[in-house]
Amino acid sequence: SPAIAIRDLVKRYSGEKGSEGKLALKGVSFDVPEGGIFGLLGPNGAGKSTLINILAGLVTKTSGSAEIWGFDIDEQTRNAKRSIGIVPQEIVFDPFFTPFEVLENQGGYYGIAKRLRRSEALLKAVHLADKRDAYARTLSGGMKRRLLIAKAMVHSPPILILDEPTAGVDVELRKLLWELVTDLNQDGVTVVLTTHYLEEAEQLCDRIAIINHGELIANKPTRELVDMA
Ligand code: ADP
Ligand code: ADP
Repeated sequence: SPAIAIRDLVKRYSGEKGSEGKLALKGVSFDVPEGGIFGLLGPNGAGKSTLINILAGLVTKTSGSAEIWGFDIDEQTRNAKRSIGIVPQEIVFDPFFTPFEVLENQGGYYGIAKRLRRSEALLKAVHLADKRDAYARTLSGGMKRRLLIAKAMVHSPPILILDEPTAGVDVELRKLLWELVTDLNQDGVTVVLTTHYLEEAEQLCDRIAIINHGELIANKPTRELVDMA
C-alpha cells in the first residue's frame, strides 16, 4: 500500500464576507509510493503548501480524503500525524535554545523517554554535533534548516515531508540538503518534497507530480517525465 493516498482533495479558503474564497485545490488525487523520493513540483501559488498543510493537520480540507501510512487523517488523526515529520518553510526557533535542547524538547513533546531519545545521533546525522550547545540565534540559516530536518525526525516517522527545502539557499547548502535527504531515504524514509525548481525535482526525485492552479497535471517516474521534455 502507498505511503500516502490522496483522493479528490479540495480546499477552498474562506473568503471575505460575501465573496467566494480562493479555490486552492480543485480535486487532487495521487499516491506517494513507499520508499522513494517524491517531488511535488509547481509554481508559486499552485497549491503545494496547502496540500502539505492539510497532511500536517494545519489546514482543514474542504472535501476529499487523505491517508498517511494507512491512517485516515480525519478518523485516525493521531496515528496519521505520528507517521510524518514535517520540515516547514519558516524557520522558528527560540533564540536561546540550543540544538540539543530543541531536539530534547521535541522528544518530550512526543512522550519519548529520555534514554530512548536520539538527539545526539540526529545532530550528528545533520552535521551539527559541534553546535550541540550553541544558542539557536548564533546558527547560520543553513544550520537552522538542518536542525529543522533533525527536529522533524525526532519521533522516527516513516515519512518525511519537506516544504520548499532549498528555496533561497545557495548552491553549496542546496547540495548538502540534497545529500541529507538522500541519506535519510537510503535509511528507509519515504521522502516527499515540494519545489518550484524543475532541476531539483529531476536530480533528487524518482517520481514527480506537477501541480498547477490547484490541479494535478502530471504524475510520472522522473525518467519518463524528462524524456517527454
Ligand atoms: P480557513 O479557515 O478557510 O482555513 P484561513 O484561516 O487559513 O482560512 O485563512 C484566513 C484568511 O487568511 C484568508 O481569508 C486570507 O485572507 C488570509 N491569508 C492567509 N494566508 C494567505 C495566503 N497565503 N494567501 C492569501 N491569503 C492568505
Ligand atoms: P504554493 O505552496 O504552491 O505556492 P499555496 O498552497 O501556498 O501554493 O497557495 C495556493 C493558493 O491559495 C494561492 O492562490 C494562495 O494565495 C492561496 N492561499 C494560500 N493560503 C491561503 C489562505 N490562508 N487564505 C486564502 N488563500 C490562501
